[in-house]
Amino acid sequence: MSEKRKVGIIGGGAAGMMAAITAARQGAEVTILERNDRLGKKILATGNGKCNFTNRVMDKYCYDSEDLEKAWSVLQAFSVTETVSFFESLGMLSKEKNGYFYPACEQASVLLDALRFTIDDLGIRVLYERKVSGIKRDGKIIKVLCGEEAFGFDKVIVTCGGKAAPKTGSDGSGIKLARQLGQAVIPSYPALVQLRCEEDYCKAIAGIRCDAEITLISGGVPLVVERGELQLTDYGISGIPIFQLSGIACRELAKDSSLRAEIDFLPDWSDKDWRRFGEKRLKHMSQRRVEEFCNGILNKKLMQLFIKLSGLKGDKIVSQVSREKVETLFYLCKHFVLHVNGSNGYEQAQVSGGGVDLRELSENLESLKVPGVYFAGEVVDVYGRCGGYNLQWAWSSGYVTGLHAAK
Ligand SMILES: Cc1cc2nc3c(=O)[nH]c(=O)nc-3n(C[C@H](O)[C@H](O)[C@H](O)COP(=O)(O)OP(=O)(O)OC[C@H]3O[C@@H](n4cnc5c(N)ncnc54)[C@H](O)[C@@H]3O)c2cc1C
Repeated sequence: MSEKRKVGIIGGGAAGMMAAITAARQGAEVTILERNDRLGKKILATGNGKCNFTNRVMDKYCYDSEDLEKAWSVLQAFSVTETVSFFESLGMLSKEKNGYFYPACEQASVLLDALRFTIDDLGIRVLYERKVSGIKRDGKIIKVLCGEEAFGFDKVIVTCGGKAAPKTGSDGSGIKLARQLGQAVIPSYPALVQLRCEEDYCKAIAGIRCDAEITLISGGVPLVVERGELQLTDYGISGIPIFQLSGIACRELAKDSSLRAEIDFLPDWSDKDWRRFGEKRLKHMSQRRVEEFCNGILNKKLMQLFIKLSGLKGDKIVSQVSREKVETLFYLCKHFVLHVNGSNGYEQAQVSGGGVDLRELSENLESLKVPGVYFAGEVVDVYGRCGGYNLQWAWSSGYVTGLHAAK
């Protein structure tokens, strides 16, 4: 009788658990080495505790990587439909809201338990409080070092996560392991994170939430446009549209670029229509005080700031103030600029960009330098938009590596 293939999995997060289940189902003898005292700590925090675990709308441009084609082929190898069926087969009902999938009961712990119970059923060995510090090939065996202990496997899958939310266990040690093995690594940066801005007056408009379109501009060149519910905070800007463009912002900030966010608070109005609206308003309401003239356009706090920035005074009569200043006031409603000078960092980020360079991994995410070692999940240079895309990457890459490592 041939011996079972021994597969070691470093890190019991989303990708690690999926890789373990897949490899065990293929008949491999699987061991998970996890540094925490439990599996899947980060999953509990996902989707505000509701776990948005995938999304019906899937496109390669929902992701960012230096090798998008390879990432996309992995995502197609285990698609959204397969993800939903997989969790159904583990006994978990799911629900879809505008394309976003959640466990039907909206509890992340339910999805985690479905994975944990299956790991138990399959007899997968889980060793807790084992922080792996080294991996090396020793003849046919791959040795995994963990403090004083050493383990030997036929195949190893590194699923240690990236650098985001280090309190959950992912402190970038997977990237260190990859570097030790001689893998090329794309420098990491926080992504899906709030952005900090230079302007002191952010405090004056903190707390406002509104629909807006944000254009990120670096050295005068527009990089990306996002629309959605913007949140203004005392340190800068947050909300889904900011999360979506934050990875690009953080990558630019690392290059020391001058970065600004131009905010359009009236994205449904063209510049031309907005100018016409301004002219009409001036015709009919120029006997009002500036403050009254502004009432009803945007949030009061925002208009008060724009009055100040335009050099106007709220108690002056509109017909008696400079026309140029009134035009500036209208212009600010569609072109308000904040200078971005940082982010809230890995502590607050939902994911990290960068990581193990996909170009040095095979289609099955096996190292081209150290055959037998695979990488899956956030440790790899792939991250997605908000909306279930990052967990989908964890499921797809976990599945592909588990399947091939067990062969
Ligand atoms: C607050 C928050 C909300 C999120 N919400 C969503 C969401 O709703 N939808 C979505 O798609 N994505 C979401 N994400 C992102 C998503 O959770 C991650 O992309 C995904 O969990 C990454 O899975 P992973 O298995 O690669 O890494 P992780 O989940 O980070 O797991 C890595 C595991 O490896 C262990 N480990 C690390 N180093 C070692 C070592 N040296 N030795 C042994 N073990 C080690 C860690 O303890 C951890 O258990 C969210 C993230 C955060 C922080």
